[in-house]
Amino acid sequence: MSDKSKIEWTDATWNPVRGCTKISPGCKHCYAETFAERFRGVEGHPYEQGFDLRLIPEKLTEPLSWPDRRVVFVNSMSDLFQEDIPDDYVDAVARVMEATPWHTFQVLTKRSERLRGALAQRLSRFAHLRHVWWGVSVEDRRYGLPRIDDLRAAPAGVRFLSIEPLLEDLGAVDLSGIDWVIVGGESGPGARPMAREWVESLRDQCAASRVPFFFKQWGGVHKKRTGRMLGDRTYDEFPANAFATAPVPEKAMRRQALSANVRETRRRSKFSVEGEQVTARGFIEITPSRTCINGSRGESETASIHRRVQAEDPSRGRRVRGARRDRRADASRRAVLVPSRRVAAAA
Ligand code: SF4
Repeated sequence: MSDKSKIEWTDATWNPVRGCTKISPGCKHCYAETFAERFRGVEGHPYEQGFDLRLIPEKLTEPLSWPDRRVVFVNSMSDLFQEDIPDDYVDAVARVMEATPWHTFQVLTKRSERLRGALAQRLSRFAHLRHVWWGVSVEDRRYGLPRIDDLRAAPAGVRFLSIEPLLEDLGAVDLSGIDWVIVGGESGPGARPMAREWVESLRDQCAASRVPFFFKQWGGVHKKRTGRMLGDRTYDEFPANAFATAPVPEKAMRRQALSANVRETRRRSKFSVEGEQVTARGFIEITPSRTCINGSRGESETASIHRRVQAEDPSRGRRVRGARRDRRADASRRAVLVPSRRVAAAA
């Protein structure tokens, strides 16, 4: 995925992890899964293994290489707090966010219990960084509301809710301790409907609690047609005084910070990264090996693979059913592409 994002509430995406598993009704039409599975089996494509969970350590330092300030959605193609992601890998992601205070990071999860525990313990050093916002996804009362309670109980400088896809009326929501609310409807084929009253209720509760409210979209099968007007206006509010203000360092300084970050990650981490080195472009390169989690290619090369695949078979990028057939054929290869903790456990 490109580091530039079309998501209305962010500038860029950063995916040091790819792939995920579904855990609640909000995941039913996961856009990340739909995208990733299109390219299962396409040799050399970053999503060659579809939506299977993979750590991408060479992406860890990517924010240090960007020459400008960005608002960054962390893991738009995954969930950082999945149980199979090792603690020290999550730590490494947090260290990069700490080392780049000129960016604003938005970390969003459905695994709120792990988030809560991590912020109270391993990640406590990072919990109150103003430029790192911690959020949970909420889709309904049964699964979503307990996540809000977990988030509120977690020590965090900035807390936010992504209430998308909103699947039912949430009723009265306790917004104490919450700094920002995003609301949106589901989009794409089979999108589940969202009633106007559910959205208006959340907007009014945010206003009453003085919580900034961002209305992302109505959604539906054709989201461009339904747009994002609520009444006679859009709602584009953000948390107050929470965007990064640190100046963007010169390239030489960023390279120094990158090298220091790589050294620290190498010293502290147990996850398997073999053959790594800092390249002239400022990325960690990974030499594939039997225990290496995965290698991936630069985004420009990804784009060229997209083009080649589309030119050879225009239907490929849209054919999820075909991709699922490839999944079975690919099963043996997947075995060496799981996180290193599981490789070690299986050995
Ligand atoms: S948690 Fe998020 S990324 Fe993971 S399957 Fe659900 S919607 Fe997709």
